[in-house]
Amino acid sequence: MPHMNPVIVSGAGPGGLTAALCLAAAGVPVLVCEREDTLPVDLRAGSYHPPTLEMLAPFGVTERMHDEGVIVPRWQIRDRDEGVLVDFDMALLKDETPYPYRLHLEQHKLTPLLLDACRRYENFDIAFGTAVSGLTQDEDGVTVGVNAPDGHRSLRGSFVIGADGHHSAVRNALGIEFEGFTWPEAFLVLSTPHDFEADGFTRAAYVADPDEWLVMFKLPTMWRLAFPVDPDALADSYMADDKVEARLQRVSVCADAYEVIHRNTYRVHQRVAASYVRGRAALAGDAAHVNNPLGGMGLNGAVHDAVNLAGRVVAILRGEAGMEALGLYERQRRPVQIEYVQRLSIRNKRLVEERDPEVRQRHRDELRAIGDDPEKARAYLLDSSMISMVREAAKVV
Ligand SMILES: Cc1cc2nc3c(=O)[nH]c(=O)nc-3n(C[C@H](O)[C@H](O)[C@H](O)COP(=O)(O)OP(=O)(O)OC[C@H]3O[C@@H](n4cnc5c(N)ncnc54)[C@H](O)[C@@H]3O)c2cc1C
Repeated sequence: MPHMNPVIVSGAGPGGLTAALCLAAAGVPVLVCEREDTLPVDLRAGSYHPPTLEMLAPFGVTERMHDEGVIVPRWQIRDRDEGVLVDFDMALLKDETPYPYRLHLEQHKLTPLLLDACRRYENFDIAFGTAVSGLTQDEDGVTVGVNAPDGHRSLRGSFVIGADGHHSAVRNALGIEFEGFTWPEAFLVLSTPHDFEADGFTRAAYVADPDEWLVMFKLPTMWRLAFPVDPDALADSYMADDKVEARLQRVSVCADAYEVIHRNTYRVHQRVAASYVRGRAALAGDAAHVNNPLGGMGLNGAVHDAVNLAGRVVAILRGEAGMEALGLYERQRRPVQIEYVQRLSIRNKRLVEERDPEVRQRHRDELRAIGDDPEKARAYLLDSSMISMVREAAKVV
């Protein structure tokens, strides 16, 4: 398709680069516009589920992720008072996927792998320092306004994919509502090289506690732990060295002081775009939906959207499908976002933060019962590893 206007992708995060990779590999000209001058390197997600590894495997990306990442064969849900409630063995999924485990790798180490893979294709191009600022569209294509290093310009494309994150310029230009809510607490994220595995934790663990629940996971060079904090409190009350040290000692007693490499806070939302598609413009990843990180579904969902959406766009451009294929993208991806990702991520958070002693006891009993029954554990893992939702989506026609 050499003379066709490119598909313009707004945003070079995991969602945008995955879409670009699928399009480029199918021979579609693609131009990624990224607002920043380089790929962003901030610390964000880092947990990959089996379907994501399956989807990126044909491009050689999964193999490279294994070279750099950490395999997580088991994960736990714990109670701060009572210890391990359930210790899930991902091998229960061995007949469901070639990757019966989670893989941990920082998001900012995935995006260069995706970009490397994209650059193998001559029909791929990326413009850094180029922020999408608006768009118009007609029957034949889209005109995208960008603020580029040489000033404001208009780019002509066949389609535009808004993979430009939570504050998506594409979603805003389309006037699509981002429906949902913001959690009242902020998340404090601490990174430390301390080896919690030696203290009995699995490489991913969720610890329930009415006052100070936490999520922890091991990345290749450090552990990351996330705790709830009051966003209105003075930052010193949770960021100061002595507060951080005391907090980590409560997780696991360590004779030496903890080394803390990074500390930051961020706000967390549960929102889904009222629509994923408008004409020749479609949303993917955080531009379409955001959720709390308990379960690690944000980044994975971005990749799943991107693969599905790119496939629809390729089919339309090849004349194998009409524009209704974009409607199928929305019908396959938006309901599972609501019925699975939003529901499960909210359930996961409610589970670890529950304050009512009776409800907590019920949760403990239920989780122990799941852990004691391989069939129940397998069903739980099919949901939590996002296998069920990808299968459900594929059934929608
Ligand atoms: C601080 C933080 C911590 C997180 N931690 C976790 C976690 O632990 N677990 C988890 O599952 N999820 C986590 N998430 C969510 C996860 O990182 C996202 O779900 C994931 O990044 C989604 O990928 P994406 O490609 O859709 O969007 P993004 O990664 O946000 O990428 C969007 C890209 O678009 C670019 N961009 C923005 N505006 C424009 C524009 N106008 N024009 C062009 N480019 C633009 C941005 O620079 C960025 O490169 C976290 C998010 C944040 C913010």
